[in-house]
Amino acid sequence: MQITYLGHSCFVLQSAGHKLVIDPYEGGAFEGFNLRIEDYPQAISGVEGVAITHHHADHDYVKPFSGAKIFDGVKSIGKAPMELIPGFALSSYRTDHGPGRGECSAISISVEGKRFVHLGDTSSLPPETAAKVKDADYLMIPVGGYFTMGPEEAAELAKTLNPKFVVPMHYAIKGKSSLVPHTLDDFLKASAGLNVLIINLGGSKTV
Ligand SMILES: [Zn+2]
Ligand SMILES: [Zn+2]
Repeated sequence: MQITYLGHSCFVLQSAGHKLVIDPYEGGAFEGFNLRIEDYPQAISGVEGVAITHHHADHDYVKPFSGAKIFDGVKSIGKAPMELIPGFALSSYRTDHGPGRGECSAISISVEGKRFVHLGDTSSLPPETAAKVKDADYLMIPVGGYFTMGPEEAAELAKTLNPKFVVPMHYAIKGKSSLVPHTLDDFLKASAGLNVLIINLGGSKTV
């Protein structure tokens, strides 16, 4: 299967011809945020399912995906896993975005026997959720700071959650996003001892 990174917290998972997008963002929704998912037409074409960790414009832009099935992570907290599109089972858990920022979820996606966990805009992880998302195959974790954990906190948390691979997200990208203060390099400096899977902007990895 394939994992494609479209910047910020947005990934496309593709398995057996089916595509799920996680946390698509609205380009230009904020000052300094100039990523556009429409710049990746091949990656977003044929998406059948959209998973949304929470309702902020840099995570819940469903407009390009009319007709796709939507998984609302916040509304699905505590519910049994559900097969959103063929082969993709999703569930969600409560996470903490920080004071005054509203509800947020972590989404777990099981596909092809692998488990992906996407932490949304986590600024701290409730212990009951940490227990549920341990030992994932791939942990997508925000590292950019201000709205979420920063690089050091993210690295510390990732170590306790013990995933096979850590996939950093929600970081500053030169010329594209200055919405958050820290870059990927800042995280890499803090990530000793972790298996980090880096996917370039617009790039894909077969996993
Ligand atoms: Zn947010
Ligand atoms: Zn965000």
